[in-house]
Amino acid sequence: MAWFKKTRKPIEPQTDKASRVPEGLWVKCPACGQVIYHKELEANQQVCPKCAHHFRMNAADRLALLFDEGRWTEHDAELRSTDPLKFTDTKPYRDRLAASIRATGRKDAVVTASGTIDGIPTVVAAMEYSFIGGSMGVVVGEKITRAIELAIAERQPVVVVCCSGGARMMEGTLSLMQMAKISAALGRLDRAGLPYLSVMTDPTTGGVTASFAMLGDLNIAEPKALIGFAGPRVIEQTIRQKLPEGFQRSEFLLEKGMIDLIVDRREMKAAIASALRILTGRPPTGPSAPAHIDG
Ligand SMILES: [Zn+2]
Repeated sequence: MAWFKKTRKPIEPQTDKASRVPEGLWVKCPACGQVIYHKELEANQQVCPKCAHHFRMNAADRLALLFDEGRWTEHDAELRSTDPLKFTDTKPYRDRLAASIRATGRKDAVVTASGTIDGIPTVVAAMEYSFIGGSMGVVVGEKITRAIELAIAERQPVVVVCCSGGARMMEGTLSLMQMAKISAALGRLDRAGLPYLSVMTDPTTGGVTASFAMLGDLNIAEPKALIGFAGPRVIEQTIRQKLPEGFQRSEFLLEKGMIDLIVDRREMKAAIASALRILTGRPPTGPSAPAHIDG
């Protein structure tokens, strides 16, 4: 039975294709090749000024972008995985966790926080891709669930910014259970009459797509983000058919009705604020209020 004897090659880790050099002064845009001054990219919310390519954004920058004056209160920052399965693949999960904690300064792959978005008190969860691919384990599930429960208790809307490779295989079925747990909490949020906005960024895949990413009252995506369950390569190999151009990118999914709208990151806060005003029935106020229109 040659099939059983086939040696398995370890799955290659997903490498960030963007030739970003965080410490460097210059960054080359992977989409148009433009060489951008690092500070300029930062000032432009990690969007290429020439072609509007959206670079990946970390959780702290994301929260700073959404919350008024870049201020928020973080919740459950100390929750960390206990490695319940004592899992080891090419190296022990425990070591992977320790390395990610060192590299990111976070205990796991999501930051949950309270603050105001254009004056509206809101609970936001932002996923951190550089922590084991933004994968969803027990801690991510628990933190997002607690954030939703807090929102219900305080009667606030919830925004989740997804950036994830899916469920965390090192926690096995425990990570899959988070899909049901978060979805159930979102059900309670819905019954409490509070809105939930899902913001999908590149990439949003696997169990995250299969649960809370697609459950928003409004499902928003950033331009050209990869959003799907299994990756295009896996699907192509399974069905042995060539997939259409742009398959699983935001624009394709919008056309097929999988998502509700695509918003450029530089407009994201205004779009979220306006959606929250409509969904919570608040009158438009402050700087985002539409200017008086004369007939
Ligand atoms: Zn570019």
